[in-house]
Amino acid sequence: EVRSLARLRDVPAVTKDDHRVALQANVELPRETGQAVANGAEGVGLLRTEFLFMNRDELPTEQEQYEALAEIIDGMSGRPVTVRTLDAGGEKLVSALGTAPSESLNPALGLRAIRLSLKHRDLLETQLRAILRASAHGPLRILLPMVTHPGEVREVRRCMMEVAEELKQRDIRIADPLPPLGIMIEVPGAALLADGLAKVADFFAIGTNDLTMYTLAIDRAEEQVAYLYNPLHPAVLKLISLTVEAARRAHIPVSVCGEVAGDVNFVPLLLGLGVRDLSMSSNALPRVKNRILQLDMAEAVRRAETIMTQHDPGRIAMLLQDYNERFT
Ligand code: PEP
Ligand code: MG
Repeated sequence: EVRSLARLRDVPAVTKDDHRVALQANVELPRETGQAVANGAEGVGLLRTEFLFMNRDELPTEQEQYEALAEIIDGMSGRPVTVRTLDAGGEKLVSALGTAPSESLNPALGLRAIRLSLKHRDLLETQLRAILRASAHGPLRILLPMVTHPGEVREVRRCMMEVAEELKQRDIRIADPLPPLGIMIEVPGAALLADGLAKVADFFAIGTNDLTMYTLAIDRAEEQVAYLYNPLHPAVLKLISLTVEAARRAHIPVSVCGEVAGDVNFVPLLLGLGVRDLSMSSNALPRVKNRILQLDMAEAVRRAETIMTQHDPGRIAMLLQDYNERFT
């Protein structure tokens, strides 16, 4: 089976009734791009940049960040790369910034992700400078984690334009026009405000890992309540659907890059909700593509409509299992 899946690498992901789905890879380390390409990734839908900041006492320099990003972009040979700015805090610790959980009353709700970058302005500027320099190497998009407020996007955009201006004056080559600036939708408030956020963001990436956690008030790392952590909860599905619809109204791209994007059983539901762009860990790509090739979009939409009338996560899981049965 592995060999036949490998042969799918250069086959586009198209449903039986001709709907094209983009399949991209989540990447956490520069050396992963080879595997992403080998598994048929059409781009990097989520580059987590935490690797540059973890397990060290000093922040990475602009040059170090630039070189790592350039290596990744070069490794993708012209395929687009979506670079997320530092998502520190919460369960992702960065000792150089003092984001240890003990220093925050509630790390998941504290100074993390884009909030931390906006507070440490030099850190944000350095990262944006490295990203913009890397944008000369190939198509790139910039993604902001844990946005909850339109002002956060405006502020980063202002910062990006200042950094770009400064680089241009120093005759340093960067992408022209500037890279699209998008946001993670991974907090319920952001999903509810998706129409408004679509006015300031160029694209959405739905992060179902955190969206599930914040919607259900279940810590991703808390074992005692892990049995309640469920992206199939109808409240989570509603927020995904709201976000997809808002993106469609605003004519901006939307992708899903949480774990569910690489779950062959969940993918038909995402497609039925209107998602056409999935980003997942590379090893899931062939299986997901295989499922999409056998899928009828019209049926996926019908099944999703039925599922969206349900209120019980258990019942939703059963309906989805019933849909997927003949494929697993
Ligand atoms: C998510 O929250 O779904 C996501 C993709 O980001 P991360 O897992 O890096 O928090
Ligand atoms: Mg997240």
